[in-house]
Amino acid sequence: YCGTMIIEDEDAAIGLTLDDTKPDGSFPAIIGFILARKCRKLTSLTKEERKTRLCELYAKVLGSEEALRAVHYEEKNWCEEQYSGGCYTAYFPPGIMTQYGRIIRQPVGRIYFAGTETATEWSGYMEGAVQAGERAAREILFAMKKIPDSEIWKPEPESIDVPALPITTTFWERNLPSVPGLLKLIGFSTFFTSVAVAGLFAYRKGILVRN
Ligand SMILES: Cc1cc2nc3c(=O)[nH]c(=O)nc-3n(C[C@H](O)[C@H](O)[C@H](O)COP(=O)(O)OP(=O)(O)OC[C@H]3O[C@@H](n4cnc5c(N)ncnc54)[C@H](O)[C@@H]3O)c2cc1C
Repeated sequence: YCGTMIIEDEDAAIGLTLDDTKPDGSFPAIIGFILARKCRKLTSLTKEERKTRLCELYAKVLGSEEALRAVHYEEKNWCEEQYSGGCYTAYFPPGIMTQYGRIIRQPVGRIYFAGTETATEWSGYMEGAVQAGERAAREILFAMKKIPDSEIWKPEPESIDVPALPITTTFWERNLPSVPGLLKLIGFSTFFTSVAVAGLFAYRKGILVRN
């Protein structure tokens, strides 16, 4: 098993799990996310009760009683965070980017903004955090006259470990309609054929008169 469980049962507290074992194999762990309404529901339970619920769920999904005997359990309620008020990112409602987009990254005096929310790509994710952090660092280097301003927005170098491969598609993958699209097409052509046949029939019978 790779540690990923996707659990769609409405009664299940967890919707997604991932293997959180460290790269060197130490601290084997499963991390699970309790989201939205399920999170609000479970906050009324004690930590021990939540642990039991999750272990029972993992035992059921993995088909193994071993999951009932967790050696350690950690949890964090991100909704209790004073400033972010939840996770996993802040999102801007409609109107923010059009009204304030230009000033999101503007420094205020000697304060520079490096949060993932100020990234131009993958905002809200780790990639965005790295992009924003490096850009803010270069802004400071520019302010210190150590680099020219043309270097502030340096593109990310191509990853050597995980190179971006082009996505190739066949002609049929690009042009075949989806199943709903095909059904719609059949529906439309059936409708238009029926109208044409009905029109011809009506014309033949003299119901439709040509001017
Ligand atoms: C539960 C959860 C799951 C996530 N899963 C994923 C995922 O699977 N993939 C993904 O790409 N992203 C994921 N994210 C998002 C990702 O973690 C964030 O986008 C990223 O960590 C943001 O980085 P950041 O540098 O912008 O901010 P942070 O990592 O929040 O760093 C800000 C730092 O500033 C410190 N700080 C705050 N105030 C002060 C102060 N006054 N003085 C000094 N220090 C201060 C904070 O302690 C913190 O260390 C997840 C986030 C959460 C919460």
